[in-house]
Amino acid sequence: MVAGNWKLNGSREGACSLAREVAASVVTGVDVVVCPVSVHLPEVAEVLKGTDVKLGAQNACAHEGGAYTGEVSSTMLAEFGCDYVIIGHSERRTLFGDTNESCAARHQAVMAAGLTSIFCVGETLEDREAGNTAAVVDAQLQAVFDLGGKQALDGAVVAYEPVWAIGTGVTASPEQAQEVHAHIRGFVAKQDQAAAAKLRILYGGSANPGNAAELFSKPDIDGGLIGGAALKSADFLAVCQAAAVQA
Ligand code: PEP
Repeated sequence: MVAGNWKLNGSREGACSLAREVAASVVTGVDVVVCPVSVHLPEVAEVLKGTDVKLGAQNACAHEGGAYTGEVSSTMLAEFGCDYVIIGHSERRTLFGDTNESCAARHQAVMAAGLTSIFCVGETLEDREAGNTAAVVDAQLQAVFDLGGKQALDGAVVAYEPVWAIGTGVTASPEQAQEVHAHIRGFVAKQDQAAAAKLRILYGGSANPGNAAELFSKPDIDGGLIGGAALKSADFLAVCQAAAVQA
C-alpha cells in the first residue's frame, strides 16, 4: 500500500490534476491512496470515481457531531467517498496539540464509521538518541488499546514515521525502519496475533523513488506514507511501482 499525504498544499484545480495523473496509471497489486486537503475531497472524489485509486482524509474528529468548531467527522468523510483517514500524524501531534489519548479517540471514531485509520507513530530525534524509540511508539499504540481494547488495530494501518525523517530529506535506513516495524508488529501481536499478522505497516519519512525499493524490500515494511514525493505524480507513481515489485 502507498498513501500520498498532500498536507496543506495545492489548489482546487491542482488537486484534481494531480489525482487525475495518479489515477491514469494502473499500479497492479498495490493499494494506492491519495489524501488531499479536506475541502478538496469532494472534487477529488469525483476525479477518482471508477478508478482504482482510493481517497483518504488527513484527520477526523473523535465525535460524530456537535460543538466542535473546525472539525470534520468520519461519517462526513465517508459521505464524500473517503476510505482512509490519517490519524496522529506528527504534525497534528506537535503543532496542533493532539495527544496519545486524543489520537486514540480519533482512531476509534474512524474505525467505528467503517473507514480505515492510517495511525501514525514515531519518535523524535531526541527520543531516538535517548534510546526511547520503542517506548514512545509503544505508548502511542497502547493508548489505542487502552481505549478500544485488544482488537483496536484490527483492520487498521499503522504508519511508522520517525519525526526526524519527515520532510527533512533524511530517511531512516531500511534496517532502522525494519527494526521498528518488526517491533510494532510484535507489540500489536501481544494484544491480537491475527491482527498483527495482517497489519499493514507503512514507512513514512522522506521516502522517494530513490530509496523506496530498498525500504519496501524489508519483510515488515508493507508500503509507504509519502509526503513531499506525493506532490509530483511521476515521483509518487515511481514509489507505487517500487511497492508493486514487492507485492
Ligand atoms: C509525511 O508527512 O507523512 C511524510 C512522510 O512526509 P515526507 O515524505 O515529506 O517526509
